[in-house]
Parts: sequence; C-alpha cells; structure tokens
Amino acid sequence: PPSRPAAPSLRPDDVFIAVKTTRKNHGPRLRLLLHTWISQARRQTFIFTDGDDPELELQGSGRVINTNCSAVRTRQALCCKMSVEYDKFIESGRKWFCHVDDDNYVNPRSLLHLLSSFSPSQDVYLGRPSLDHPIEANERVQGGRTVTTVKFWFATGGAGFCLSRGLALKMSPWASLGSFMSTAEQVRLPDDCTVGYIVEGLLGARLLHSPLFHSHLENLQRLPPDTLLQQVTLSYGGPENPHNVVNVAGGFSVQQDPTRFKSVHCLLYPDTDWCPRQKQG
Ligand code: UDP
Ligand code: MN
Repeated sequence: PPSRPAAPSLRPDDVFIAVKTTRKNHGPRLRLLLHTWISQARRQTFIFTDGDDPELELQGSGRVINTNCSAVRTRQALCCKMSVEYDKFIESGRKWFCHVDDDNYVNPRSLLHLLSSFSPSQDVYLGRPSLDHPIEANERVQGGRTVTTVKFWFATGGAGFCLSRGLALKMSPWASLGSFMSTAEQVRLPDDCTVGYIVEGLLGARLLHSPLFHSHLENLQRLPPDTLLQQVTLSYGGPENPHNVVNVAGGFSVQQDPTRFKSVHCLLYPDTDWCPRQKQG
C-alpha cells in the first residue's frame, strides 16, 4: 500500500529564539550566553536589546536587534521589547517563536526535540506557569468604563516559553505592530502575563504546562542532576540569591562558574575548546 510521506522533520532554523536583554547586561550576562549555548544556536538566536554596543559579538550579523525601547524596567518598556520580538518573528517566517531572558541557558537539542512533537500550524503555547493557579485580571474595555474579570494561565517569561506560528498569527490583532502595548495597558499586566491573556483570555487557546522550562523562581538545586541535560531551559539566582543554581558536577568550581552554565555546557558539548579536557581511559 502507498505509504504517506513522512512529515518533514523540524530543523534548527525553523525555530526563532528571542533573547531579551538590556544594555547594562551585555557584559555581565549576555557574554556568558554567547560563549555557551548561543554558540551552538547562532542561526536561531535573535538578541533584543535597548542600546548599541560595538563590542557585542554578532553585532552587524542582523541577529542583534536594537528595539529602541526605553532601557528602564517598566511594564511599557518590557512590553515594547516583546512587541518587537513578536513582529520580528512574524517577519522571519519561521515555525516556532521561543522567548527567553538573558539569565536562561537554552538546550537547543532538547528544545528542538520538544517542539518536534507538535505541529506549528496548531495552537501551541508551551511553558511553565509561575503560579499554581490561574491569574485573575481586570479587563478594561475601551474608554475604561466597564471592568470585567478574566482568569487565565500564563507562562513565566523568566523560564522561557514558545508559541507556534499558527497561534502567533491568530494573536496578531492584539500583538502586532505595537498593539501588544495597548493590549497590556488594557489589563495593566507585564509582558508575559499579557501573552497569556491574549492566548487564553482572548483566543480561548490553552497553555501547555511543561516541566522542562526553569526560572530562578524555582529552587533550582532540587532539579535531579541526572535530568539536567534533558531540560529545555535553566536559570540561576544571581547576586541576590547566589545559592539558587543547578546542582551540576564538572570541571568548574562555583567560584569559576557561579551560574553553573559553563559546567552544563561542557557536559553537553565536551569538545568546546575552553572546556576541561576529558579524562583519559
Ligand atoms: N530587562 C530589561 N530591561 C530592564 C531590566 C531587565 O529588558 O530594564 C530584562 C533582562 O535583561 C532579563 C529580563 O528583563 O532578560 C528579566 O530581568 P531580571 O532577570 O533582571 O529580573 P527578574 O524579573 O528575573 O527578577
Ligand atoms: Mn531573571
């Protein structure tokens, strides 16, 4: 009997990974990412920042986008960046949009493996909720007179999340060309919550809760070491919470590798030139 042609397998270039950063994090945070996971996912990764930096590697490659959004930590500025990420993804024609922060490690292989179990033409919104219950928000209808409440789940931006192209296209009336910012104003919520609001609250699609995405809101030490290399994203607590890092053994001490990202990277890509030599025999 004639067999159906196999579905084309997902290629790395089908995925658009948006990294949100800010000028002052280029040195302290982004450098580490460029030397670790981004070096293995150059053609998939797009860096969204708010200031020019002649020293930034990849600058000029078209993979660093100066959003011209304000470099302050306000809802408006962060939503401005998300809105540019969204527009650039739509323009790219790629099948999957994934957003991460500049304190996330992404395992590109795990990400591809996860996404390949879904169809990009279906409604897929994948990530980790930061709460164990849906958020309730007040929805202001144009004019601000009527207020209704909406309940929905959202994926926490700090753990990373993904959207299929099919779903992203449906979001366009509320997300494209700056309308993301007015949508966020209507509910007065941060960027990641606004994505959940559009997907669940306005489109009636659902967040698929995935245990493979991780932010520093979790206790990262509790992640079983033997599962670390299968996770899609990791994070670290940073200076305020230096002990909240993944538990990985390896060639680097916590002093040499406070985020543990180098140690994880060398387990995934032991041939990297700066990784400790593997022990013989
Ligand atoms: N960020 C930004 N503009 C700012 C502050 C932060 O774009 O003014 C980005 C930062 O680069 C990171 C994300 O927002 O990708 C979250 O910032 P951070 O990790 O410092 O804070 P968190 O919310 O995780 O505690
Ligand atoms: Mn963070």
